[in-house]
Amino acid sequence: MRIHAELIGINGDAYRIDDIHDEGAYTSVKAARIAHEERCAACGRRAQVHGSTNSTVYHVPHAGKPCLIALKKKRYRCPACGRTFTEDDPLVSRLTPHVSTRLEAFVLEELGRGRTIAELERMTGASKNILAKIEAAAQMPPHRLPRNLCIDEVRAFPKKVAVKRGEPHMACCVYDADEKTLVDMLAGDDSKTVRAYLESFTKGERNGVATISCDLNGSYISLAKELLPGAVIYADKFHISKLVTGAVDDTRLRLVHAIEDDKEQKKILSRASKLICARKAKLRDARQITCARAALESEGARELRRAYLALQLFYEWSDATYESREDMERALGQWISIARRTGVPEMLSEAKTIKKNKVYILNAWEHGRTSAIAESLNRQIKDIIRTCRGFMSFEALRHRCLVVLGHEREPNKPIPLFVRSDKRKEGVG
Ligand SMILES: [Zn+2]
Repeated sequence: MRIHAELIGINGDAYRIDDIHDEGAYTSVKAARIAHEERCAACGRRAQVHGSTNSTVYHVPHAGKPCLIALKKKRYRCPACGRTFTEDDPLVSRLTPHVSTRLEAFVLEELGRGRTIAELERMTGASKNILAKIEAAAQMPPHRLPRNLCIDEVRAFPKKVAVKRGEPHMACCVYDADEKTLVDMLAGDDSKTVRAYLESFTKGERNGVATISCDLNGSYISLAKELLPGAVIYADKFHISKLVTGAVDDTRLRLVHAIEDDKEQKKILSRASKLICARKAKLRDARQITCARAALESEGARELRRAYLALQLFYEWSDATYESREDMERALGQWISIARRTGVPEMLSEAKTIKKNKVYILNAWEHGRTSAIAESLNRQIKDIIRTCRGFMSFEALRHRCLVVLGHEREPNKPIPLFVRSDKRKEGVG
């Protein structure tokens, strides 16, 4: 039965498998430790076997079912001092006597892949409390400031829930742009919270930050200037295009609200909400084009037409390649003056924001940085919240996110079991 032990991931040199049985809902395994020398902890004398006890331990799922090991443990007695004790068991986790060390590692690995506690309960048969204990003992990433920093916000709790439970509505996430990991999650996205976080590091650590990405709306820029003096601040094109598309959408909404009784007109404008914010070239199908055109050419949509034009020109600026920073700056300057000439209030205010923060937009280009990593990690945090159906507390949310995203991970690739020789290929060439 040695091979059985190895198959279910138990050391066959130390354990003997007496039986493996399919119980329908789970697999039951009878195991015992192979006879070995056990010494008394108090006097060091060789102890004698003194009966046995049984315990049940949850193990890694076997054949797609939970696996339970009925473990026979020997009790020993010291002939010199009369002390009795149970043998030490390397199979059993130090955290809780109900799970095996292999299951402990398995749970952490699966949580890291985004499994929920409920799923793991079904897979392993272990209770919620046992699994939560393993999660709580997981190693957290160290408190540190990365060299290349990204800051972004994510919605932690819906506003109503946040008010009711006294939890933060938004959370501020700090990412490491090189390692692509979550460094920390702060309760709240206000400048006071972020300031307290940055101030928890020494001046030397803060001076080590080379770049920081953040969006233009927050108060992060002034904080970064003050507390991270050595860092290049940049804002990604993605965030800027979000501002401009937002302006188009706000214009559309204002027009919809201004319409009093023309239901047909309202419908036309509402239907095209996504289409008029997209790149013109991306509208492939004729139905989409007619829909967008109907909205833009409708009566009273003059302002929307202008805002739309400004957005398309913005996309042109954003997709073009530039030889130098000056070229890009000039092109952006031209776009800003066009946006101002549209006379649409929403577009005017965004153009003003962009003009004010022009330097950060150009920084992103010059240093070849995007906030794609932050956006991807943001997406993953949203996925965690969604698959777990929310969390009971901010601390639980933060802990889980750090367990899943806090450590550098190997890319998810299939394991190459067979290596094909390239001889045939070479012969042809
Ligand atoms: Zn003794």
